[in-house]
Amino acid sequence: MPEGDTIRKLAERITQRFAGERVERCVTRDPRLVGVDLTGTTLVEADAVGKHLLVRFDDGRTLHAHLRLDGSFLVGPRSPRPAWQRRIELWLTSGWLTGVDVPVLGVLPTAAEGDVVGHLGPDLCGPEVPDLDEVVARLTDAAASPLAGALLDQRNVAGFGNVYAVELPFLVAVSPNQPVGTITGLRELVALGTALIRTNTARGPRNTTGRRLATNDHWIYGRRAHDRARPCPVCTTPLAGWDEAASPWRRVSVWCPSCQEETPAREADLVRARRLLALHPARRDPSYPKPAELH
Ligand SMILES: [Zn+2]
Repeated sequence: MPEGDTIRKLAERITQRFAGERVERCVTRDPRLVGVDLTGTTLVEADAVGKHLLVRFDDGRTLHAHLRLDGSFLVGPRSPRPAWQRRIELWLTSGWLTGVDVPVLGVLPTAAEGDVVGHLGPDLCGPEVPDLDEVVARLTDAAASPLAGALLDQRNVAGFGNVYAVELPFLVAVSPNQPVGTITGLRELVALGTALIRTNTARGPRNTTGRRLATNDHWIYGRRAHDRARPCPVCTTPLAGWDEAASPWRRVSVWCPSCQEETPAREADLVRARRLLALHPARRDPSYPKPAELH
């Protein structure tokens, strides 16, 4: 699933390629876009708020999209996908912008963007460093929610997807099932996640290990529960997990039942996180928790 960092990069690519270009032709094949025609407008810029993509035009309209699991945008070349999958196709001066299988798509007045993104928590991948106190306050309001579910809830914080909902709890040795209200060090945990996602947005593949930077490399995301061949990389205990149907937050999850034991109260282990991220450039991000904040 595309995470906030992926959408931010997509928005930047669209802006770099097409800002200032005229829409020569607009083809829509989506019932929600019946009657919409952007022909003759100029694409001003694209922006991302959390996992929402906003493409703004000079006539005061915005194309809003959420990619969920399977949607994508092709920027530049003509899409080879069958016509029925190309929900929206913009013929711009120098190329095509095509939304393929985009499940949430609409056009609205730019002034009304708040209607679709106003409910979101602070945006981790925006140009400004997000207000971490606000994120922590929103998470704390969800005291009974399991950590992973709270991180994925875009009303708390916009941008984390399932990679971070698996990797962040592992880095700080907290179970993804641990209720948020029982965790101390939430601010540092969020700061760490912010540094990781912002570094990955700026730098390239979504990497949470820092070991092989050119790859989408993760500690335990993508591993399966009870797989003895791929146990916990720290203590070699076989991982535990949820499949999508059993998971309280409806996403596949894994965790180490030993490192990330669920306990009545739990402190985010920032010393472990710093050790695991010793090679990761997120260490140099301004959001990264300072040694003085570690205890
Ligand atoms: Zn372990």
